[in-house]
Amino acid sequence: MSLEAVTTIAEARDRVAEARRDGRAIGLVPTMGALHAGHGSLVRKAVQESDLAVVSIFVNPLQFGPKEDFQRYPRNLETDLACCRDWGAHLVFAPETAEMYPTVSLTTVEVARVSEGLCGAFRPGHFRGVATVVLKLFNIIQPDRAYFGEKDAQQLAVIRRMTADLNLNLAIVPVPTVREPDGLAMSSRNRYLNAEERQTAPVLYRALCLAQQRISEGVESAVAVKEEAVSILRSQPLIRVEYFEIVDANDMQPVANILMPVVALAAIWIGSTRLIDNLRCYG
Ligand code: AMP
Repeated sequence: MSLEAVTTIAEARDRVAEARRDGRAIGLVPTMGALHAGHGSLVRKAVQESDLAVVSIFVNPLQFGPKEDFQRYPRNLETDLACCRDWGAHLVFAPETAEMYPTVSLTTVEVARVSEGLCGAFRPGHFRGVATVVLKLFNIIQPDRAYFGEKDAQQLAVIRRMTADLNLNLAIVPVPTVREPDGLAMSSRNRYLNAEERQTAPVLYRALCLAQQRISEGVESAVAVKEEAVSILRSQPLIRVEYFEIVDANDMQPVANILMPVVALAAIWIGSTRLIDNLRCYG
């Protein structure tokens, strides 16, 4: 099957309806484009597990704050289509903003608690924008499975909770984080980094690895683990730490004593670029 690209909701619905009529399993990978090997891992998994693998490419204005990088977010549909073709995707849905939001959206999806701390505290409204656009994409494509990266752990928790709370009839499939050889998690925003910033960036992963190691050694105090990890980050003059937290994997709430599997998450700024990453930790 060759790759087809559509830009309207009507065309997308038409293509998936045809597949559904034929009893084919539909997989969806929601993305904002500027695709890299991290996205590739999600798409390849969707291709393996579905008969119709759909990739959505949409830079969703609703999830960007007024001072964030919506305008400068990298966009290159031709390159993205070539990637999707290489990875074996069947359909790309790449709507314009006016197609997704023809009028101001008065209806939004708010996933309380899971959305509130961590990135949610520093990006007010971000997860409302994410949950709303993802629910719209689920309603348009009606996939059997949707694929999300563990790289965005809080986003994954928000989508899982929305899916459970609203009885959405699909499976949410988590996909492990794909990293550069030096440990830096792949991200569309890595291309904002200059050479010096890029060289510093893997410190984020090293700080998370240290937290993971301390927890595996049996350290139970979250404060102690955080202090050590943050001091590694602070040793780099280019880095500003936004947060470093240790949370319960399901509800994203900070824990004081590490007695169950947790996730260590961090957000940092390097120059004008914000990077996030996380690692699962087992005591
Ligand atoms: P984005 O285009 O940044 O919105 O990401 C689209 C999807 O790809 C999300 O589910 C992300 O979590 C996932 N993703 C982004 N980077 C990576 C990565 N390095 N490894 C695995 N998944 C990723």
